[in-house]
Amino acid sequence: MDKNGEDVIIVGGGIGGLTLALALHKAGIKCRVFEAVPQLKPLGVGLNLLPHAMRELDSLGLKETLCDKGIVTREYSFYTNHGQLVDHEPRGQFAGLDWPQVSIHRGDLHLALYDAVCERLGAESVVLGQRCVGFDQDADGVSVHLEESSSGRRLPNVRGKVLIACDGVHSIARKLFHPREASPRYQGSTQWRGVTRWKPFQSGASMCYIGTFRTGKLITYPIRNNIDEEGNQLINWVIEFARPEEQQRDWNREGKLEDFVHLFDACNFDWLDVPAMLRAADAVYEYPMVDQDPLSFWTNGRVTLLGDAAHPMMPRGSNGAAQAIIDATTLARLLAECSDWQVALKEYEARRLKATADVVLANREIAPDAILLVVDERTGGRPFDNIDDVISRDERKQWQLRYKQVAGFSADALKASPGLA
Ligand SMILES: Cc1cc2nc3c(=O)[nH]c(=O)nc-3n(C[C@H](O)[C@H](O)[C@H](O)COP(=O)(O)OP(=O)(O)OC[C@H]3O[C@@H](n4cnc5c(N)ncnc54)[C@H](O)[C@@H]3O)c2cc1C
Repeated sequence: MDKNGEDVIIVGGGIGGLTLALALHKAGIKCRVFEAVPQLKPLGVGLNLLPHAMRELDSLGLKETLCDKGIVTREYSFYTNHGQLVDHEPRGQFAGLDWPQVSIHRGDLHLALYDAVCERLGAESVVLGQRCVGFDQDADGVSVHLEESSSGRRLPNVRGKVLIACDGVHSIARKLFHPREASPRYQGSTQWRGVTRWKPFQSGASMCYIGTFRTGKLITYPIRNNIDEEGNQLINWVIEFARPEEQQRDWNREGKLEDFVHLFDACNFDWLDVPAMLRAADAVYEYPMVDQDPLSFWTNGRVTLLGDAAHPMMPRGSNGAAQAIIDATTLARLLAECSDWQVALKEYEARRLKATADVVLANREIAPDAILLVVDERTGGRPFDNIDDVISRDERKQWQLRYKQVAGFSADALKASPGLA
C-alpha cells in the first residue's frame, strides 16, 4: 500500500465487486474490497452466465471452474401452459458461439470468485464485516467511511485513488449521488424462486419457459449435476405472475408455495411433473419485479457505480450478473489503459451507462420469452393445431434475436465488441 492507500477501493464483495478485483489484479492494479456481511455464504438460487459474460470470465481464467460447478446450457425451449412447444433454439457453444452459457447457483459463482480472489490477491484483500456509510474526495484521493456491521462502531477511514461502489440494489453511493431519485418502480408482477433436487429432464441441460406471467409463467433449468447417488440434479425454477401489490426488494425474503403452486396443477407433462417438482422444493424465495429508471450519471470525480448499484434491473433475461461482470472488466481495462483515472471513470460511464440502460428498459418490454406472450394473445390462451399458423418460423427467429441484440450477446455483437482478453 502506498501513502495514498489502495489504488482502487471496492465497496461490495458481490458478483460485480469480486469480478472487478480479479480483473484489476490481472491488469496489475492494486485494490481492496470492503464487504458488509461478516461471512460470505452461498446465498440465492440459480442464475445464468450468458456467453458475453462467460467470455469475460474466460479471460479471467474461470471458464473451466464455472462449467464444472454449473451446467453448460444446451438449449432453450418455449412452451404454452398447455405444454405445446412454440420454439426451440440451441444456446452458447451449441449455437456455434465461441463461449458457452452456464446455468449456476449464485452461491457457487460467488464462492468461486471469492476463492479466486483469495488465491490470487490474498484473503486480506477482501475485508468482511465492514459497511461503507459514506465517502469524501479531494484532489489526491477518496476517503471511505466505514463502520463495523455487527456493532455499528465507526472505523478509521480508508484512502484510495478511486472508489468503485459495487454495493448492489440498496447502494449507498447511488443514494448520495442521486438523493432525489424516484422510488424503485414495481412492474406489476412478482417472482418466486426456488431449487428442487430432481431427476434430469430433457437433455439434462435444457432451459424451459412455460406459459406467461398473466396466468403464471415458469422458467426451469438445472444448475448442479450429480448431487446424489441417484444422479439427481439441483433444478432451479422461477415463477412469475401479475400481482398488483408492491413489496420491498429483499433477495432473502421467504416465499410460500401455496401462493402459486395451484397455477401449475395441469402442468404434468411427460418430461416433467411441474407441480410435484415445485412441491418438493428445498426453499422458496419471493422477489418483486422492481427496477429503477436509468440514471443520468454514475461517476462523480473519483467515485463511480458498478453492477446493480448502477443499473438495478428486473431479474428477467439473465442479465443482472452478466452486465455487472462486463462493467467490471470494461472498467479494469480502462483503468489499465488511461493514466488519468478520473477520465477512465468517465469513459467507463460513457461505454456502459447507455448499454445497460437499454437492457433495463428492454427487460420491461421484450423479455426473452416475449414470444410466448405473442402466442398467448393470438390464440386467446387456447391450444393451437399448428404453431406455424400462429407465428411463422421467421417471426419466431426475429423474437429470439431482438433480446439478444439489446443485451449484447447475439453472434454479431460478440464478434463486434472486444473482450478483456
Ligand atoms: C443475498 C443475495 C442473493 C441473491 N440471489 C440472487 C439469485 O438467486 N438470482 C439472481 O439472479 N440474482 C441474485 N442476486 C443478485 C445478483 O447477485 C446481482 O443482481 C448481480 O449479480 C449483480 O451483482 P452486484 O455485485 O452488482 O450485486 P450483489 O451481487 O447483490 O452484491 C452487492 C454486495 O454489496 C454488499 N453491500 C451492500 N451494501 C454495502 C455497503 N454499504 N458496504 C459494503 N458492502 C455492501 C452486499 O452485501 C453484497 O455482497 C442476489 C444478491 C444477493 C445480495
